[in-house]
Amino acid sequence: CQTVAKVGSWEYDPASEKVWWSDENYRLLGYEPGEVDPDFDLVLAMTHPDDRTEVLSEWQEATENRSAYSGEFRIITKNGETRWIIGQATPEFDPAGNWIGHVGSTTDVTERKRAEQALTESEERFSLAMKGANDGLWDWNLETGNFYHSPRWAEMLGYRSGELPDSDEAWEALLHPDDRPRMTKFQTDFVKGEKESYDLEVRFHHKDGHYVDVLSRVISVRNSEGVPIRMVGTNSDISARKKAEQELIAARELAEAASDAKSQFLSSMSHELRTPLNAILGFGQLLDQDEGSVTPQDHKMFTEEILKSGHHLLDLVNDVLDLEKIESGNLPLEIEDRELTPLLDTCVKMVGGDARQNGIKIINHWPEDGSPVVRVDELRFKQTLLNLLSNAVKYNRPNGEIVLDWHQSRGGSVRISVSDTGEGIPKGLRSKVFEPFERLGAESSATPGTGIGLTIARELIESMGGTIGFESVVGKGSTFWVELPSADQKLH
Ligand code: ADP
Repeated sequence: CQTVAKVGSWEYDPASEKVWWSDENYRLLGYEPGEVDPDFDLVLAMTHPDDRTEVLSEWQEATENRSAYSGEFRIITKNGETRWIIGQATPEFDPAGNWIGHVGSTTDVTERKRAEQALTESEERFSLAMKGANDGLWDWNLETGNFYHSPRWAEMLGYRSGELPDSDEAWEALLHPDDRPRMTKFQTDFVKGEKESYDLEVRFHHKDGHYVDVLSRVISVRNSEGVPIRMVGTNSDISARKKAEQELIAARELAEAASDAKSQFLSSMSHELRTPLNAILGFGQLLDQDEGSVTPQDHKMFTEEILKSGHHLLDLVNDVLDLEKIESGNLPLEIEDRELTPLLDTCVKMVGGDARQNGIKIINHWPEDGSPVVRVDELRFKQTLLNLLSNAVKYNRPNGEIVLDWHQSRGGSVRISVSDTGEGIPKGLRSKVFEPFERLGAESSATPGTGIGLTIARELIESMGGTIGFESVVGKGSTFWVELPSADQKLH
């Protein structure tokens, strides 16, 4: 902004207290030349009220000391306009050395003052805006290498102002390693001039060790050849927004996974229901349409198939209902301290018949003289153990063996294991063992089952605060185990 200086001149005669103004001085103060007969009182009256005291005292000082005067102040012109002026004057003396007055000048500096004021205001506005936005600011001069960062930018990363050097390297060193390639690409693109302004989301290392998500909005200043010579950017801390975004994504993924699992479950379930239903209907129809060609043996076989499929359906429906109850949290558990060995004995007795039929020996491998106490829901624990034992019978080889064992582990829990001498589970199928309806090929064998038993077992054990798992060696057998919290004491 250029200052349009207007200069007038004046003289002061202390003897008459009169003032003489040049034509330019009249105009500068809003008068036609000669329009008024100025004196010191008029000048004082025209001085802005806020500046009057100071002007008066400085002028009095100059006249009393016969010294030079200089002051910058506001005057109100004839038409009421406020203007900034600089008044300057030097004392005049006669040949005898007597003070005869002051000769002065008036310079209108209103334009310069307004520009200065506008600059101050805009700087103030800018710093208020930055403060309000809580953003950091940086300014990088690519020609001189000078780098400026605002205190807020340092503070965003946990540093005090001045604690980090003013260099772009210092900041780049704090960048997340994974974000470096993006930053490099951004800088190359910038130099190439592909974009004038950029928004960049990157992570910076906070002094505490965590990372802060920062949105950097950058603009470039280029020389006449289009080469960037300066980059200026504001940095906003967007960690809270990022966190919310991530939580939203995680929640959506979870909901999608749950919905996928549900659809998968429903489609498997309808398939599982259809197979025995088809058998019931098929054999039922054969019997219905019989006009004497069905032999009594076939008749018996068809009826048996119908009954078998009916039982299977019932098992399936019961299992699915159980599973549904557990998953929806509608299966109340009564967790109590229970002595383990009597529970194991009951279960062994219950599978004893099936085991004997297949020539399978069940060996109890625990010490005679005591039992740990576990914290379980008795009914549901037995259901789980029965599932493991009946699997060990079903998937064993004829005349095989089952070893039932428990031991107390260091973490204050009890591990119960059921080992069999069956075919084992191939590595590729192991991840599916606890999935609903997965029978790992057993569906095409004569071995009955729904593929939900272990799914239920896992849900039950986990709701009792325990874990379930297995190890298996193909050709040798599998060991399924359950680990449960013990009441940490032994009963004798
Ligand atoms: P199922 O009703 O089919 O027995 P489970 O959920 O109890 O269903 O078991 C799932 C599948 O895991 C079984 O179909 C079988 O293929 C496999 N499995 C379970 N226990 C054993 C075991 N002891 N040995 C070999 N395979 C087993």
